[in-house]
Amino acid sequence: MKNKKPNLKTIEEPARQLEVYQEAEVVVVGGGPAGVSAAVAAARNGADTVLIERYGHLGGMATGGLVILIPHLSDGTERLAIAGQQKEWLDRLAPLNGVIHPPGDSIGSSDPKLVKQWGGYRFFVVDGKIRLSAYVDPEMLKCVLNDMVLDSGVTLCLHSWGCRALMDGDSIMGVTFESKEGRKAVLGQVIIDATGDGDIFASAGADHDATLDPKLRSSKLALVFRVGNIDYERFRAYKGKETQTTSIYETGSEESSYAKTMGELNRLGGFTVTMPTPRKDVVWFNNWIPDLSCLNVKDLSRMETETRKKMLLTYNFFRENVPGFEDSFILDTASQVGTRGSRRLIGEHILTEDELRSGTAYEDTIALFPPLTCNASPEKPNRCIPYRSLLPRNLDGLLVAGRCFSSDLVANDIMNLIPPCVAMGEAAGTAAALSVRHGVAPRAVDYTKLRDRLVDQGVPLPELP
Ligand SMILES: Cc1cc2nc3c(=O)[nH]c(=O)nc-3n(C[C@H](O)[C@H](O)[C@H](O)COP(=O)(O)OP(=O)(O)OC[C@H]3O[C@@H](n4cnc5c(N)ncnc54)[C@H](O)[C@@H]3O)c2cc1C
Repeated sequence: MKNKKPNLKTIEEPARQLEVYQEAEVVVVGGGPAGVSAAVAAARNGADTVLIERYGHLGGMATGGLVILIPHLSDGTERLAIAGQQKEWLDRLAPLNGVIHPPGDSIGSSDPKLVKQWGGYRFFVVDGKIRLSAYVDPEMLKCVLNDMVLDSGVTLCLHSWGCRALMDGDSIMGVTFESKEGRKAVLGQVIIDATGDGDIFASAGADHDATLDPKLRSSKLALVFRVGNIDYERFRAYKGKETQTTSIYETGSEESSYAKTMGELNRLGGFTVTMPTPRKDVVWFNNWIPDLSCLNVKDLSRMETETRKKMLLTYNFFRENVPGFEDSFILDTASQVGTRGSRRLIGEHILTEDELRSGTAYEDTIALFPPLTCNASPEKPNRCIPYRSLLPRNLDGLLVAGRCFSSDLVANDIMNLIPPCVAMGEAAGTAAALSVRHGVAPRAVDYTKLRDRLVDQGVPLPELP
């Protein structure tokens, strides 16, 4: 037997030569809503593009995390507030029976018949008007995202974990990734960090903040699961009116039997949020633990084991106490930990809560998003994201898209939903392609050209201030 090693606190990893797996113009790390959109936009705008994703499918939280609600794509009028690639998801999912949403000609309507028809889905009706929001089938979405990426000519590296930025002074020139082939490098002129957690910008030395606020949704790690073979009509009748607010706790209508039943579940130590899905016999459940970090192995392990216990408690309780669940079964659990909050870039512009609440528009707006709880109005205008929130302060060759974009905690909590992440990805990919084409750094991309390209791609943007 070898002698026991001394009690080492660190150990030196020997330096080694890495094979360059591929050289591209644009390299996107992370294949969630932001990363897919970035890669597709870069490739459609003419850039030779590689997309690196650690798992075997695309979609991030929207597929592997079973986050199936895509909310607030219109602002209360018939106008769409987010379109572009986000709309393309819905259009491609429709023939696969992979999505449910109110039809295009009902958007903005307050017709009582339509409001009654769609009121059973959370976020389909806001302030008495039909909004475009959608529930998607995560398995169909995986297929659609594969098609979008491959059709646009992106080179896809699945089962490849992006590790570290490769730097040339203050410029990023590529990334290393780890796979069953070992550790290799991919080089690019522009790198887009769409890992959600800012893995690449952190290793590049970009300024960032990883604090969490236990009061906000972004500090909750979640396990989403789906229950199949339920009798949805009986469940709906028992549950009563679907809440149309953003409240995350399942309460049911006040004093209803459902509210009392949920009170009993709470007393037993369980809680949940349920949502409908595109299939009538399947219901979506979410349970979570607050104040945990998805960057911490102990927290992640605790979350995976404790939420699974909570899931069993909740599911058994529903089967025994809630009409419609008698013959149900647990269909699946999310293969990816449910996480919204992580590292946030400290970029050229830090989007703030005040700016969002006052509807500040920028000279470089790349996306807008309607307020969640009410229809957009002069008092509650759409919220905007500037291009500068995707740009690090101190590094070149790097763009950031998705939930790790430059924002304060509350602004991030409001804007890390799927539609803004898709919109950020589409803008980052388009900007990266323009940066390559015109031979300028991402921060020097001409905003007028970027805006024109985004508008051509169907992205709604506000009038210039
Ligand atoms: C429980 C829960 C409920 C939610 N509810 C809603 C909702 O109803 N509607 C809504 O719009 N939003 C909701 N959200 C928020 C939303 O899902 C996310 O904020 C959004 O998906 C973020 O998109 P993203 O592309 O930035 O990141 P992610 O979706 O996290 O995607 C990141 C991708 O990068 C990959 N990746 C990460 N690190 C690496 C690496 N080092 N190398 C390679 N690949 C890597 C991941 O595997 C993943 O595919 C919810 C989130 C949770 C957790």
